Amino acid sequence: MPLHSEKRLNKLKAQLIEIAGNENVDDTTSGRLVYSYDATPNFQALPEIVVAPRTAEEVAAILKLCGETSTPVYTRGSGTNLCADTCPLKGGIVLLMKHLNKILELDRENLTITVQPGTITKEISDLVEKDDLFYPPDPSSMKISTIGGNLAENSGGLRGLKYGVTKDYVMALQVALPNGELIRTGGKLTKDVAGYDLTHLFVGSEGTLGVITEATLKLIPKPESQKTILALYQDIEAAGRSVSAIIAHKMIPVTLEFLDQDTIKAVEDFAHIGLPTNVKAILLIVQDGPKEIVDRDIHKIAEICRGEQAVDVRLASSAEEAEELATARRSALSALARLKPTTILEDATVPRSEIAAMVRAIAEVAQKYQVRISTFGHAGDGNLHPTCLTDARDEDEMNRVEEAFAEIFEKAIELGGTLTGEHGVGVTKAPYLEWKLGKAGMEVMRGIKQAIDPNGIMNPGKVFADKAKQRMVTVK
Ligand SMILES: Cc1cc2nc3c(=O)[nH]c(=O)nc-3n(C[C@H](O)[C@H](O)[C@H](O)COP(=O)(O)OP(=O)(O)OC[C@H]3O[C@@H](n4cnc5c(N)ncnc54)[C@H](O)[C@@H]3O)c2cc1C
Repeated sequence: MPLHSEKRLNKLKAQLIEIAGNENVDDTTSGRLVYSYDATPNFQALPEIVVAPRTAEEVAAILKLCGETSTPVYTRGSGTNLCADTCPLKGGIVLLMKHLNKILELDRENLTITVQPGTITKEISDLVEKDDLFYPPDPSSMKISTIGGNLAENSGGLRGLKYGVTKDYVMALQVALPNGELIRTGGKLTKDVAGYDLTHLFVGSEGTLGVITEATLKLIPKPESQKTILALYQDIEAAGRSVSAIIAHKMIPVTLEFLDQDTIKAVEDFAHIGLPTNVKAILLIVQDGPKEIVDRDIHKIAEICRGEQAVDVRLASSAEEAEELATARRSALSALARLKPTTILEDATVPRSEIAAMVRAIAEVAQKYQVRISTFGHAGDGNLHPTCLTDARDEDEMNRVEEAFAEIFEKAIELGGTLTGEHGVGVTKAPYLEWKLGKAGMEVMRGIKQAIDPNGIMNPGKVFADKAKQRMVTVK
């Protein structure tokens, strides 16, 4: 059902053209179809109009218009999110950030970079590294994801264990609010306690509160050296125990990634880099910093892994080999996605000490529901990616997949964890959010949403579940 009558839609289109220019407003079926889905399997819905504003002021004017006309707004970076967050479930407009893609300033005195939201994440990393600076958050999608998407999802990456995630590098934002106001939060300041921390309210808000139109990010000095090892296991639980043991020995590597045998095989088949496919699990471990410290840590970590029954520990022989291994790990989702028609990846997260228990629980759930689940992820952060290889056309199997994931979320929470460590709630985890936040927590969230977006135009249908249970709905 179209949201607007033809007459109202034509009027809205004319008003949007007035704001953003004729060439930046598209209501053709083919134009709308492109933005009807994102990287989340099984979700699709057509927006009524696609708009690509050129400035923050245009974004603000569009939001004001949408507020006045009760038009849903689905802000979109590159559409790589995995929780249906950019799927325009209730029609309205898709607001594309593609023109707001400039790097505005690299401040070498304050060690900050100021960018527009449509800037590709890797462009930021590559640019600052030329100056021996470092922007650590590195989601595996960084070659295509935008910084606006990273901020709105509070994305993490392979370097999260030592360096944290996107929220840890945000100093200031400019945000367009649903009432058409543009506000600035934070500044190039290490210390700033003036008022509520609005900067971090918008980080991770999944496009449900406002549109980030500019961000100032913190940079740090680039580490001077790094080393990578692979620890190989014939016992998955021994790999899980190694993760806990490394941390318990007060070693904090940059990267501490887990891949199970299914994932290793898929990645090797995809990347052909000589990963051993006959082992049950691999830990990919990276340390960086001054050379002597890296040597010391890597030696000690290797010893810990051997002590926990690693069958072999291999050191990457060159920077190229180390990069190849990291790239291979980043391709895990793409590699697994080749195996079956539908790939559903989740990111249940537990305290690091519970990694072995969570890996065991995932295997038991897969067995119970007779579904195929491969597991890889940022084990050092306790952030696992149980990935179900399935086929959306098989209704019976999809029901079992849904039940299996519900049980995995329940187990993660029981172990002191959470539903999502980095991918966001979106539609897919909305029905379960109350399990994590409780009724009172949900009420606080609703109060914030109501205060900032009283007409509910920002990303409706996301984060707050429409109905108590529905998950993985296919929307035509
Ligand atoms: C192969 C693959 C690997 C991935 N690896 C990782 C990973 O390692 N770590 C990780 O955390 N995630 C990962 N992801 C998920 C995804 O890439 C991240 O969530 C990413 O941050 C999304 O960026 P995007 O530009 O595609 O945003 P989109 O998908 O376009 O949008 C994501 C959310 O941000 C909102 N949004 C976008 N721009 C703005 C803005 N300017 N203001 C306000 N809201 C905005 C949208 O409304 C939506 O709610 C992966 C995805 C894929 C497909």
